[in-house]
Amino acid sequence: MRERAYKYRFYPTTEQADLLAQTFGCIRVVYNSILKWRTDAYYNNGESTNYNSASAKLTELKKQDEFNWLNDVSCVPLQQSIRNQQTAFTNFFKGRTKYPNVKKKRSNQSAEFTKSAFKYKDRKVYIAKCKAPLNIKWSREILSAPTTITISKDCAGRWFVSMLCRFEPKSLPVVNKTVGIDLGLTDIAITSDGFKSGNPRHTAKYAAKLKKAQKHLSKKKKGSANFHKAKLVVAKIQAKIGDSRRDFTHKLTTKLINENQVISCESLSVKNMVKNKKLSKAISDANWDEFVRQLAYKADWYGRTLVKINKWYPSSKRCNCCGHVVDSLPLHIRHWTCPACESKLDRDTNAAINIKGAGQALLACGVKVRPKQPLCC
Ligand SMILES: [Zn+2]
Repeated sequence: MRERAYKYRFYPTTEQADLLAQTFGCIRVVYNSILKWRTDAYYNNGESTNYNSASAKLTELKKQDEFNWLNDVSCVPLQQSIRNQQTAFTNFFKGRTKYPNVKKKRSNQSAEFTKSAFKYKDRKVYIAKCKAPLNIKWSREILSAPTTITISKDCAGRWFVSMLCRFEPKSLPVVNKTVGIDLGLTDIAITSDGFKSGNPRHTAKYAAKLKKAQKHLSKKKKGSANFHKAKLVVAKIQAKIGDSRRDFTHKLTTKLINENQVISCESLSVKNMVKNKKLSKAISDANWDEFVRQLAYKADWYGRTLVKINKWYPSSKRCNCCGHVVDSLPLHIRHWTCPACESKLDRDTNAAINIKGAGQALLACGVKVRPKQPLCC
């Protein structure tokens, strides 16, 4: 069994919007108070805290008169926020992320409801302390009753409900095709068989519009009604960019998974690359990390194999015909001729072919389980 989330827009009634806004507020207070308590415990007394002690702290908080109103909303999302904070701390201590941040009122808000706090019946979702079902815009069917739902409101004022469902993935029919993928900016994905995905550059497309809206915003008095109105316009453009980018990445990864049995690509560390200021905008816009993440889980669901190649492998500088590696190959050189065998090479396709070869070598050496079908070359 696997889990996947289905995200839908919904339109809350006034009563639901009020209750949810109140829930978000409580989550923020709980999250921030407990974060402060944990920070103090660590820095002042050198004490480490864990989920159980944080959870006990929440119970204590709810008993205090001044926090009595925390009892007006479902306790489940509050508890879940502490659970998520614990995950954030675990990630921090493992060096994967920065120290957990306080939750702010004007950023995206979300509340997680586990099974005891919502009901799902006949395509209707009811949340605790609210009689009417959510008015959901069902854009697709869900595969099973959800185990957890997350309600969120983004900066553009849109409400979403994301439902986590268990399902048994069905492998796609086996295809006799292996491909290597090079990730780039002119084209987001270039495959060893010559396919070039193009790059819609959503950020650049909306840059002028966004700049105008941001300029408009900068002239407003911070905190005024007009300021928030102008801020919403900016958030809506940013949401549009995010949506288009996500949509493009999904279509591309689905296509690649459908057409290929084995896919090799480079493992990336976009976090480090984005430090290059000039390229950072273009790289975030290309969404490489998300691209690789989608390939990985889709490969897992549909019975495909994804092989990640060490990012230090000289995929660009190596000639795929004879294996000669040149000393340097500046980024602006798109076509080159191998000095050893004189093959004429397209920079990106050559890299993709090398990545494919490296992936096959990795598979053959048994680093990952071999697929049942023989590999095609
Ligand atoms: Zn060569």
